[in-house]
Amino acid sequence: MKRDYYEVLGVSKQASVEEIKRAYRKLALKYHPDRNPGDKEAEERFKEAAEAYEVLRDPEKRQLYDLYGHQGVSSGTGFQGFSSADDIFSAFNDLFEDFFGFSTRHSRRGRGFGPEPGSDLRYDLSITFMEAAKGTEKEIEIQRLEECKACSGTGASSSSKVITCPTCGGRGHVVRTQGFFQVSSTCPNCSGQGSIITEPCKICNGKGRTLQNRKVKIKIPAGVDTGARLRLKNEGEAGIRGGQRGDLFIVIHVEPHEFFKRKGNDIYLEVEISAIQACLGDTIEVPTLEGQEQIKIPAGTQPGALFKLKGKGFPDLRGFRPGDQIIKINLIIPKDLTKRQRELLEEFLEIEKEKKKDGFFKKIFKKVEFH
Ligand SMILES: [Zn+2]
Ligand SMILES: [Zn+2]
Repeated sequence: MKRDYYEVLGVSKQASVEEIKRAYRKLALKYHPDRNPGDKEAEERFKEAAEAYEVLRDPEKRQLYDLYGHQGVSSGTGFQGFSSADDIFSAFNDLFEDFFGFSTRHSRRGRGFGPEPGSDLRYDLSITFMEAAKGTEKEIEIQRLEECKACSGTGASSSSKVITCPTCGGRGHVVRTQGFFQVSSTCPNCSGQGSIITEPCKICNGKGRTLQNRKVKIKIPAGVDTGARLRLKNEGEAGIRGGQRGDLFIVIHVEPHEFFKRKGNDIYLEVEISAIQACLGDTIEVPTLEGQEQIKIPAGTQPGALFKLKGKGFPDLRGFRPGDQIIKINLIIPKDLTKRQRELLEEFLEIEKEKKKDGFFKKIFKKVEFH
């Protein structure tokens, strides 16, 4: 028996998306398998919370869940949940990035003598709607700080020597006496390096790094949406004095599509058919991500009717079931009728009037008889 999703997250039915997110974050951190190694119960809780979050964060899924309960969000192929341990972690990591953004990486600023890590870089990449649906590979060219080839990153020209800073004696800081106090500060002569270069490299001005153009290949997984962030480890700027390279963050922007609109993993398409077609029913062809597909419009279809092509939406990045394609029917009233068409419709209208009259009188008659 599945538990109620609101109960799982410990929030009220009126909870805002923010409250839901906060509640999930708390549970995800508490039951994360890293913190509870070998604890089956914690693992179940972790999965259960992720499943609840996946549904309640999405306004449409949430509405379906509110209306129909678990059935509303598990029809058809069903809610697959996490198929492997990897998925659990990737879902968790996604969330982690959401919450903390880039901030987790700013603590590793080096200073003084030692190696200094290179900076992270951000690159905004636009891709088409179809590329987002199918996944793609892109090659981008970026300018980033790389180790200077002329001096191999030392910052010293070949005839130069690296000598111990005479001001601080190699310590990188100097101590001044101010009244009763001794104040230690970064050595102004060597900027805390402890050593100075007698003749800096002319190519990089002694910095050890130069701006260079680099081509980077990026694999974009199917299902990404605008705002998705891909992290390419060690593709950021080169570090200083052998420091670790930064990372490159690719921020995805998906261009809108001519017909399709995306909501979560579902795609929406509006289709126009004539009112007569809707009245009689018909089979029509609609575009999908995979190409043309036929759908049956039953007789008596009303304006705004929705049809669902299950699993024809976007694939899910975290391994949940793919989205659906929702087709909304708009009716157009035929114009420019031929004489014959007009005659037929007039005849139709006559019959319709008779039907109504009949129906109306029958109703009255029944009512009178009844009383
Ligand atoms: Zn150089
Ligand atoms: Zn110094």
